[in-house]
This record gives sequence, structure tokens and C-alpha cells, in this order.
Amino acid sequence: TTSQRLIVVANRLPVSAVRERDGSWSLQVSAGGLVSALMGVSNFRTCWVGWPGVYVDEGPDRDALTAALAKEYYVPVYLDPKVFDLHYNGFCNSVLWQLFHYVPLNMDSKLSETRTLQFQWAAHQAANQRFGEVVLQNYSAGDVVWVQDYHLMLLPAILKSRAPKMKVGWFLHTPFPSSEIYRTLPVREEVLRAVLKSDLIGFHTYDYARHFVSACTRILGLEGTPEGVEDNGSLTRVAAFPIGIDPDRFARALEQMEVKAHIAQLLNRYAGRKVMLGVDRLDMIKGIPQKLLAFEKFLEEHPEWRDKVLLVQIAVPSRTDVPEYQRLRSMVHEIVGRINGHYGTLTHVPIHHLDRQLAFHELCALYAVTDVALVTSLRDGMNLVSYEYVACQSDNAGVLVLSEFAGAAQSLGAGAILVNPWNITDMAAAIEDALTMSDQERRERHRQNYMHVTIHTSQTWADTFISELNDTHVEAELRT
Ligand code: UDP
Repeated sequence: TTSQRLIVVANRLPVSAVRERDGSWSLQVSAGGLVSALMGVSNFRTCWVGWPGVYVDEGPDRDALTAALAKEYYVPVYLDPKVFDLHYNGFCNSVLWQLFHYVPLNMDSKLSETRTLQFQWAAHQAANQRFGEVVLQNYSAGDVVWVQDYHLMLLPAILKSRAPKMKVGWFLHTPFPSSEIYRTLPVREEVLRAVLKSDLIGFHTYDYARHFVSACTRILGLEGTPEGVEDNGSLTRVAAFPIGIDPDRFARALEQMEVKAHIAQLLNRYAGRKVMLGVDRLDMIKGIPQKLLAFEKFLEEHPEWRDKVLLVQIAVPSRTDVPEYQRLRSMVHEIVGRINGHYGTLTHVPIHHLDRQLAFHELCALYAVTDVALVTSLRDGMNLVSYEYVACQSDNAGVLVLSEFAGAAQSLGAGAILVNPWNITDMAAAIEDALTMSDQERRERHRQNYMHVTIHTSQTWADTFISELNDTHVEAELRT
């Protein structure tokens, strides 16, 4: 059987190259929902194109790494470190990431800073160009090319200019903001026009898709239709494809001896108390200070709960060399210190805060034993932590308190308690509701969410996107 080939293009490969003592390369796979979803897409042979996590000069050493990657169907894009820094830390993370999460652009008074944006933009274009060359070198007619995320919005135009018949899809893993925010981007037209060269464009929610179509109509003057965006008779299909997780991966983990032992240990440690859980990258968009302030207010208003409830907050370090992230970390530490100092006793501290990543089995155990999950994102493309919590709660039926600003609110809204993370009073009340909810209501809410998480998996997400991409392409061929 000849199955179609799928080329997934992402800024980073799903492996990191690590050099061994003998000078050879080994690959560390970062297992996650996206990787397992795309690896297992039905009837496709999948290969990945992306940055391998290291820069290696041209020569035998680079060839050895390229060969090691090729065995796993990974194709590396080697970018000059300076270009990569300006592209990734610069244009992607301090311009696009910020703007897409409703953080206004940072205007510096110095002219040199204005020129920095020009350098970042130039590097971003060069990086996308380099990705384009690598994809084109590996492309054969009939392959499906699926471009991932905001790092590679210029790529569809680059690919189509060289291979007009290529099937190109693009998916955004963050929110797409209101056009009123998006239109502050100095290069707003170039970016939209480039990504519109895709055959199919996908977002997590209808709201994001609608914002994107509005940006195209208002900024480019194109026509928005229920199908997508039209430019002189050619249609770019735009639709919502909410991502999911691989729930079996969590179900399997909960059956492992190691995880069961962890669960027993934690249940013993937490006996007699209710436990709430937060799991976030330490990022401004996650609303960690807001969550802590709401918990503080709850403790202030409910003395009877003070020694009976614990908040476990896992704050995974992220972008640690960026000053704003360092400031956020200090702020979070200060609030945690204040709350523990004020409400702690000789035998109990209200917040157990960790500044590190957990091993997968530790994370699963925490998901399984806790009574409430607090997801308080100020903006979040989807938020998979909320899905993973639901997947691990079939015994407990714990309560999910979920920000209405996370994409997941559109899918888990029926079972979760939805909150506006900026309303601290409301969030404190939601904490009380979650802690005192009747068994029956908890089970009913969990049942709804569990059904959603087990039906809308990462696998169905990928399958749906790709079959829609194939269909869209056939229709486009028929029109021309
Ligand atoms: N995660 C992890 N180790 C940890 C904490 C979290 O691997 O110690 C994972 C978690 O399982 C989830 C991901 O990090 O899959 C976070 O995804 P999410 O969509 O919630 O937020 P993002 O970090 O992508 O903004």
C-alpha cells in the first residue's frame, strides 16, 4: 500500500540532540500530546522538519547528527545562532507571542530599539526562508505539508511560490487576538498575506477563527465568508479544530506500580485535608498571582478552612533569561511567602509551591489525588492541563475551576466552574463552591468533561485537520 506522506513543520523538532561522551549524538524524545497525535495519524507516513535544539557547524559532526535524526524521520533546520535568537526570542516570543495573548507591544524610547524590531523581522524572514528550503528539498508531489504555529506564518507563501500545487495547512496553537490588537503589529499585512497562501488554516476555537477572518477583512480589505477568506476568487479555508490529549497515555500511567505507589504516598501525606492543584508554566498568561490572591481572599473569609485546605502549585520554569519572567517569579514568591507566613501554623502551610518540572509519573499522581484544579489563565490557546486533570479523575471526580479566557472553556465549560481570573472575589467564591460541592454534582460535571476529553482526542484532531486539508485541496483544484 502506498500511504500519503505527511511533513510536519514546527519550529522545534520533538527531540533534543544530546552529545554523548564519545562524541556521538543521542536523541531525547519529548513525549507529548502533539507528538503522539501526529506520529499516529492514520494512513500517513510522518516526517518532521524543525530546529534540532543545537547549532552544529557544517562538516562531519553535523552530518552525523543529521544521519541520527534521519533514522527517526526527523529533518533538522540548522539556523545560525544569532539569526535563531532574533527570530525565536525576538520576533516570535517578544512580539508575536505577546500580541497574540493581548499584551501590547513594548515601545522603547531609543531609536536603536526600534531598529531591533527591524533586525528581528529580518531574522524572522530569513529563518522562515531557511525552513522553506529544507521543506522543499524533502518534498515530493502528493505529500501533505502541515505547518505548526506562530513561528512559521511566512512559510506557506514561501512554499507555494515554489510549489503551487503543494497541499499546505497551517495551525495556530495560541489564541488569535481581536483585530483591534492584531492591527498594532507593524508588519501586519505581510504576515497575513503570507499565511493566507495556505489551503487550510486552523484554530482551537471559533472565536480565534473569527478574529482572524476579521483581521483579513479589515486590514487587507478581503472578503470573509462562512468558509474562510476570499481573495479574487481564490479561497483560503478557515476553521476551528480544537486539539485534545491522548487520554490512554494517562489511563495507562495510572495503572503503573510506580504511579500507584506515588498516589498512596500522597494520599497519606494529605490525609484529612482537601487539596487544590495548579500546574502552569511560569508565564504571565497563566494568571498565577491572580490565583494566589483568590486563595488568600478565600482563607481570609473562611477561617474554618485555614488548616483544612492545601494548594499545590507547580510552576514550571519558562524563558528564565527574560527579565519580565524573572520579575514574575519574584512576585509569585513574595505572595506565596506572605500567605504562608500569615495563615501557616506549626503543622500546616497553606501553599506548597514548586519551581520545577515534575516527572510524568509524579504529575499523573498529583492529577489523580487532588480534589480541585485551578486553571486561571488570562489568555491561553487551549490549556491541556485542564484536559489532563479531567483524564486522571475518573475515581475522584474532582472539580475543575477554569478561566473563561482559556480555549478549553469552550469545550469543558459545561462541567467546569468558569471564572474571570481578574475578579478575585468571584474566584474566592468559586473555590468555596468547588470545595463544598455535593458528590452528585461533582460526578455529573466530571462525567460531561470526561466524555469530551475521551472523545475529542489529539488523534481525532490530527485526523480531522488532515482529511479536511485533502478535501479543501481537491475542491480548489476543481475550481481552477
Ligand atoms: N507538564 C509537564 N511537566 C510538568 C508540568 C506540566 O510535562 O511538570 C506538561 C503538561 O502535562 C501539559 C503541558 O506541560 O501537557 C502544558 O500544556 P498547556 O497547554 O497546559 O500549556 P502551555 O505550557 O503549552 O502554555
